[in-house]
Amino acid sequence: MTGQHRIVVLGAGYAGLAAARRLADKARGAEITVVDSRTHFVERVRLHQQAAGQRIPAWDLRERLAGKKIRFVRASATELDTEQKRVLLDTAAALDYDTLVYALGSSADLDGVPGVAEHACSVSTPEDTAGFAAVAGTVVVVGNGATGIELAAELAETQTDSHVVLLGSAEPGAWLSARAQAHIRRVLERLGVEIRSDAKVIEVTAAGVRLADGTTIESAATVWTAGFGVPDLAARAGLEVDATGRVLTDSSLRSTTHPDIYAAGDSAVVAGPGGRELRMACATALPTGKYAADAIAARLRGAEPDTLRFRYVVQCVSLGRRDGVIQALHADDSPARAVLTGRVAAWVKEGIVRGAAWAARP
Ligand SMILES: Cc1cc2nc3c(=O)[nH]c(=O)nc-3n(C[C@H](O)[C@H](O)[C@H](O)COP(=O)(O)OP(=O)(O)OC[C@H]3O[C@@H](n4cnc5c(N)ncnc54)[C@H](O)[C@@H]3O)c2cc1C
Repeated sequence: MTGQHRIVVLGAGYAGLAAARRLADKARGAEITVVDSRTHFVERVRLHQQAAGQRIPAWDLRERLAGKKIRFVRASATELDTEQKRVLLDTAAALDYDTLVYALGSSADLDGVPGVAEHACSVSTPEDTAGFAAVAGTVVVVGNGATGIELAAELAETQTDSHVVLLGSAEPGAWLSARAQAHIRRVLERLGVEIRSDAKVIEVTAAGVRLADGTTIESAATVWTAGFGVPDLAARAGLEVDATGRVLTDSSLRSTTHPDIYAAGDSAVVAGPGGRELRMACATALPTGKYAADAIAARLRGAEPDTLRFRYVVQCVSLGRRDGVIQALHADDSPARAVLTGRVAAWVKEGIVRGAAWAARP
């Protein structure tokens, strides 16, 4: 190969930007290009706030990346030609790469249950939340994972004309400690959220949701937070992927089948502590993006990269703007004893969210 080493980063979310920022510092001499279909970075971890009508921070990608001498291409990647080492864009242009960072993130999985795509909305991307309007009446939030809990609390706190129903098949926060779960339930109930933790939704209709036990719940709006999907670009290009389409990676985050492609964030399968896959989270997207950049920079220097050292520390769940839960975690993501709740937890979570945006910002 002659000339500059061309690194193309697909996706300017937390993982892609963390990678690009790090590459600009460590892979000096390489030509770095970031591709995203959006002009602005929007803090995805705040989309439940945006859905509830709050303004959330966003910044211009071209401007910020130019400051680090990183080229930005606003386009949607439509195809990956791994033979030619080329990314095809919806603008009819193409980008050639020597090394690719695949960080296309995730979006709501709208295909698993009938009627979701037609009748439900979601809070997974800025486009999803753009159309949110204040609803007077019942809002059903399906899925009581962290996103569903945060959204239900935010809506109940902000939109006092609506009645929020949170549906899931387990206790909200079931993966956290008993103390954290109890606090989540207490705050949701205080905010007026109706919790149904035995509800399996089998269909979404224009009028509401149908449950496996034969009952229906009428709603003015249904929001789907139960499950995420990923872009199918990698699968279509023949990279080895899991059942959802996430890229399988080796210990240095290279695709198991295409060593010139690294994957990070929600669209990658990464082995974590205790043999568990890292979960889809901003908390894993940032370090995996950064690590992928370190691994690329090491190999460009002719060195072998260090192994990825990742351990979980805390999980933060906001419960509106004035309350929250900070759950201490063991290295492998299982809950430890310590739990912080209340206003202090809300402040800590706000600090962590700001820190995450700072860590991604070039
Ligand atoms: C409401 C909500 C609250 C959350 N709260 C938390 C939290 O408190 N803590 C936490 O750890 N995680 C949280 N998450 C999860 C977190 O947001 C994601 O795990 C994280 O954003 C993943 O980062 P990423 O860089 O992999 O992907 P993303 O942030 O999704 O970025 C992917 C980028 O790729 C771009 N893209 C996608 N396809 C294409 C294409 N074909 N061509 C060009 N560009 C493309 C997108 O425009 C996007 O900018 C939350 C998620 C939601 C929805």
